[in-house]
Amino acid sequence: MKISEILNSKKVTISFEIFPPKKQEAFDSVKKTALSLSSLKPDFISITYGAGGSTQTNTSDLAQAVENSGTASLAHLTCVRSTKEQLLQTIQTLKQKNINNVLALRGDLPKDTFEGENLFPSGFFHASDLVPLLKQNGFCVGGACYPEGHPESSNRDTDIENLKHKVEAGVDFLTTQMIFDNDMLYSFLYRLQSAGIHVPVLAGIMPITNANQVSKMVDLSNAYIPRKLLSFCDRFRHDSEAMKQAGIAYATDQIIDLISNGIRGIHIYTMNKPEIAESIVKNVDSIIKAVNK
Ligand code: FAD
Repeated sequence: MKISEILNSKKVTISFEIFPPKKQEAFDSVKKTALSLSSLKPDFISITYGAGGSTQTNTSDLAQAVENSGTASLAHLTCVRSTKEQLLQTIQTLKQKNINNVLALRGDLPKDTFEGENLFPSGFFHASDLVPLLKQNGFCVGGACYPEGHPESSNRDTDIENLKHKVEAGVDFLTTQMIFDNDMLYSFLYRLQSAGIHVPVLAGIMPITNANQVSKMVDLSNAYIPRKLLSFCDRFRHDSEAMKQAGIAYATDQIIDLISNGIRGIHIYTMNKPEIAESIVKNVDSIIKAVNK
């Protein structure tokens, strides 16, 4: 099923993100994770794509396993370091596997470049260049957005102008980079409205259940980390069960606030931990049911 149809038919959706294994021998274990997550009946599961890495066919294989388990899938696809032929090949594979939804991404700029390397042999320099090709091939297409600004952008206004190109290229919905402070999302949404961007925006929530995650997440996303989150990481960093409970409670609190304020899509970065996703979903299931009545 197309995610655009799911978003149109429900008042609030819950979706999960997983990443494929780096090593092939771990494929079955990640597939098991995907199936456990699917049994929680999310609205869809997205599967990341290793830009230039070894997990590219695993993305479509996992997406197919998710579809076969009765849950809609969203396969990520990046254009950095890919030729147009490679992109077309991946598109064919996705179609053969009956995948209907793709998250169009540029991908992070690789650190291991060599002098003179053309990082964009397809001529697709931005996600917005990839979107029309995916639309022509019949996919429902999502895009990424950054409430706190993309790290390469000189300022947030320019970032939103660039995001507008992506939306005008045809994206059906946007998913945010992880946010830990909901106010960042609320002010971003006001700016999107002023810029004339009206597609659905799904809020990216990353449960922090291990204190070491925090510095990694800041490096990755530039996200603002509220004092409350830092406090429990400092207090419980050496007690994994306490950290898990605090991280689940924090993410739950964020989700309740988002839904209370009218946000219609919650996308949980599961870090391939179905038990964490399950606890969060249990914490909010009556709320979701009440809103979707
Ligand atoms: P773009 O939309 O192309 O933007 C990149 C930069 O270029 C921004 O600074 C933007 O302002 C600027 N820009 C955009 N369009 C234009 C234009 N027309 N002219 C000038 N400047 C422009 N990475 C992976 O490798 N695999 C994944 O599976 C993956 N999944 C992700 C899922 C989500 C929800 C998010 C938020 C990120 C994900 N990423 C993934 C990370 C992503 O690849 C990086 O953040 C990357 O640096 C930017 O990708 P993008 O698609 O947002 O790029």
